[in-house]
Amino acid sequence: MPVLHEQLIPVFDEVIARNPGEAEFHQAVREVLESLSPVVGKHPEYADAEVIRRLCEPERQIIFRVPWTDDAGRVQLNRGFRVEFNSALGPYKGGLRFHPSVYLGIVKFLGFEQIFKNALTGLPIGGGKGGSDFDPKGRSAGEIMRFCQSFMTELYRHLGEYTDVPAGDIGVGQREIGYMFGQYKRITNRYESGVLTGKGLSWGGSQVRTEATGYGTVFFVKEMLAATGDSFEGKKVVVSGSGNVAIYAIEKIHQLGGRVIACSDSSGYVVDEAGIDLDLLKLVKVEQRGRISDYARLRGGGARVVTDGSIWDVPCSVALPCATQNELDEVGARRLVENGCQIVAEGANMPTTPGAIRLLREAGVRFAPGKAANAGGVSTSALEMQQNASRDSWSFDYTEERLAEIMRSIHDRSIETAEEYGAPGDYVAGANIAGFIQVADAMLALGIV
Ligand code: NDP
Repeated sequence: MPVLHEQLIPVFDEVIARNPGEAEFHQAVREVLESLSPVVGKHPEYADAEVIRRLCEPERQIIFRVPWTDDAGRVQLNRGFRVEFNSALGPYKGGLRFHPSVYLGIVKFLGFEQIFKNALTGLPIGGGKGGSDFDPKGRSAGEIMRFCQSFMTELYRHLGEYTDVPAGDIGVGQREIGYMFGQYKRITNRYESGVLTGKGLSWGGSQVRTEATGYGTVFFVKEMLAATGDSFEGKKVVVSGSGNVAIYAIEKIHQLGGRVIACSDSSGYVVDEAGIDLDLLKLVKVEQRGRISDYARLRGGGARVVTDGSIWDVPCSVALPCATQNELDEVGARRLVENGCQIVAEGANMPTTPGAIRLLREAGVRFAPGKAANAGGVSTSALEMQQNASRDSWSFDYTEERLAEIMRSIHDRSIETAEEYGAPGDYVAGANIAGFIQVADAMLALGIV
């Protein structure tokens, strides 16, 4: 494990002591602190104001009871979370995740990452994240609605377009945002469009928001490829997951001339050498909310489903983990290297374990962290807030061009910052340092708050 700068060791020790048992949060903090060693030497003013220590402590953490009634009339109970991590650059901004694995440590890791990601976009948004251990799988639309309404009945008092603006994440798409927005509107008697992003187009949503995280990740990789005079044309790509991020990453890769030959869900992966049929994938995973094996069955022909292996065994030039945290470990990374993979870019948040990142780097595989590569979602959320504030709506093409521009700028800033701080080509260091400096300078300016 790389050593931390001596000034950062007590900071990390304090994070571990204050947040026991929150392994994902420790992992996310450790990665950022490792990148900050060259900054500490260059900027003593941050240490004087304890900026890094303060950054590691959320401004506010909210945990609440979410009772609701299922279709059989039984009372169900879940736990809701919102971690308002840092508001130095703007209102807290970050998605809501509904998944049984959600607990405070997951929400904190996501919220912490979100601070730097949001800073990198150059848009005026702070960092936060939330969710619940509610499992939407197998629940009826009525149950989902009642859960969302109960969740918002507590959360609403902490939100506002100038305070805290959630969006979707795993298990939370436009349908759930709709139910939560409806309940917020009802309780507050305000049509406050800017309080949630990821809305439908007819009720305050933005063009390209649905596609933004997947498209943005692919735009980022396009820049990485262009930096060495290369492109997606003819490249074999593997994308894990088959949710919102994965689906639109696949769509954009196909538009740019690449071929996605494998994708997955939590039950297995499918290999389709002819290229994933996106219409079929959307039908199965979005409309029918089915399993990846249904895709293989309906596709017939050469598509095969694998339920007891790893998607990273499939040879490719570019790999995009777009499912969930720590899904790409050292074993997977070794397989990618052996099979000649050149680029790994994170569509998901922290999908690559620290050991896997090290292994990829040592093997010369170019690696883009989620903070930079998947920032397209939150960027377009901020564009949605802009449109809501000006009561305007932009065209698809204009919004997509803005997204592409933002991803280009994040790419260039990451790589230039890495160079400036003595880590040429290191997107992890570049993204962490560039995001940190932006937030740290604002924190210094705002005083000890
Ligand atoms: P979705 O719920 O739409 O999709 C998640 C996908 O990942 C599903 O296909 C799910 O399978 C699959 N999955 C979950 N766990 C596993 C696992 N252990 N192994 C394999 N597949 C798994 O979520 P999103 O696409 O929105 O989010 C995916 C990732 O991207 C998350 O890390 C999220 O934080 C991140 N992200 C999302 C943004 C957004 O705008 N939505 C923005 C930035 C980052 P199944 O169908 O079986 O559940």
